[in-house]
Amino acid sequence: MKTEKYEFYHQSNIIQIGNLLDDLHGVHVHLLLLQRRYYRMYSKYAAFGRICAHITKLKQRTKPHWKHLPSQVIQQVAQRIHLGYEKFFDYLDDKKKGLSPRKVGKPQIKPKHKYNSLTFTQAGYEIEGNRIHIKCLKKSFTFWKHREWTGTIKTVTLKRDTVGDYHLYLSCEGSESTEKLSLTSNAAGADFGMKTFLTLSDGIEIVSPEFFKQSLNEIRSANKALSRKQYLSNGWFRAKRHLARVNKDIANKRRDWFFKLALRLVRRYDTIAIESLNLEGMKRLWGRKVSDLAFGEFSLILQWMCAKYGKTLLKAGRWEATTKPCSECGYHNEKLTLSDRHWTCPDCDSHHDRDINAAINILRVGVPWT
Ligand SMILES: [Zn+2]
Repeated sequence: MKTEKYEFYHQSNIIQIGNLLDDLHGVHVHLLLLQRRYYRMYSKYAAFGRICAHITKLKQRTKPHWKHLPSQVIQQVAQRIHLGYEKFFDYLDDKKKGLSPRKVGKPQIKPKHKYNSLTFTQAGYEIEGNRIHIKCLKKSFTFWKHREWTGTIKTVTLKRDTVGDYHLYLSCEGSESTEKLSLTSNAAGADFGMKTFLTLSDGIEIVSPEFFKQSLNEIRSANKALSRKQYLSNGWFRAKRHLARVNKDIANKRRDWFFKLALRLVRRYDTIAIESLNLEGMKRLWGRKVSDLAFGEFSLILQWMCAKYGKTLLKAGRWEATTKPCSECGYHNEKLTLSDRHWTCPDCDSHHDRDINAAINILRVGVPWT
């Protein structure tokens, strides 16, 4: 499965997708309230099948206006709630068994401004060229078709983001295509760092532009403006959209830089080894800078890029020692502290740059990514 994302043009009727989302938000609220009532009466939640049957009844009786909404999309709303409860119950089961799973809450009613996506599974739309016709709205919308999709379309998702732009997501099946880059027989280990974003085992250093830091003043003033506004007022929504726009611009710049960097790496090397990261722990230790560097996002992009061009990505386990051992003889330098940038191995007398030494070790202990 591969998902392609397309942006809708700014067009006067795009607001109708927003209105459709707001209508579906009504369904979402109704179904969740229904589940709560059901639970109060029978001390359990209604099954997905029951809810679907109930929706059919509702359309005939109290909610005739739901008939205009595409039925598969309404089912998707019910299914998302259903999956939410399933996950919640799995979590409770795991907890009872004495495991310590990641906490999952009960499905909550979303506020209207956070209800932002709808999914078509098979019917209800038609795509021709760069236009999608939504049958229930009897309207067509034009999107920016910057590339072709391949394979057959399985689901179509329309999303409104916090900025107020609309996107189309096409999930396609059977679109595996690997392009090949010429092999270079180079291999490199890469060490993530706070000072230098990436240090490669052959000594190349890559410094992050730290886009968030660059726009820090802009972010701060946008945040202040938002906090001055009254919650859910018109001004509040405007300020929130502005803040979202600033954040989105930063994220876009960073992603662009990541893709270019990853492409440079896969062009140069056949095998790249990186360390698997304990991001939560790093965030606690270093704070905002880790989020700005976004190692995790870069790892994923690099993984995707390697798969696309048929290169190998190796991963060094989280508990693998990579900093302290000497890359020449394997001597463990227990005295090494965070501030030591350079050190000399007492055993074999080789001189090391801390990051390059780590990068070499990462390449040595790396195993194929599963
Ligand atoms: Zn040594």
